[in-house]
Amino acid sequence: MSQHDPIIAKHSTGRCLCGAVAYAAATDGRFSICYCKMCQRWAAGVFMSAPTTAFKITQGADKLHVTRTSDWAERAFCTECGSNIYYKADMMETPAVAFGSLDDTSGFTPRIQFFSDKKPEGLPLVPDTKTMTEAECNAAFAPDPGETS
Ligand SMILES: [Zn+2]
Ligand SMILES: [Zn+2]
Repeated sequence: MSQHDPIIAKHSTGRCLCGAVAYAAATDGRFSICYCKMCQRWAAGVFMSAPTTAFKITQGADKLHVTRTSDWAERAFCTECGSNIYYKADMMETPAVAFGSLDDTSGFTPRIQFFSDKKPEGLPLVPDTKTMTEAECNAAFAPDPGETS
């Protein structure tokens, strides 16, 4: 990151539950929430992630499994403990790390909620935070209209 970048980068580190996989990343103190069914299957519920502008695996690259989960994105997890490490759409230069894998999440604030119309019933949306419906997400991100996350 150069000193002239308008976004204030925060140096973050993170790891999986068992500690086999660790990373260093530049984050901007914000996180996203995704309610899509794919994220629910993958993360056991709502998937929270922090976008990065730099990302490097610092330990256990051989324990990191990267799998393509759609025509336009891949997800990575630790093969030892199953912890999710990141989500990366092809259009992103660096991944969005699994929020819970960050060592220090103090001061982070929610930025946006994706697939807001797919959220589990009974779970409230985060107030005063931008939302995008499935249709809006597909229009914005999917290379092929009709694809879901
Ligand atoms: Zn692990
Ligand atoms: Zn999702």
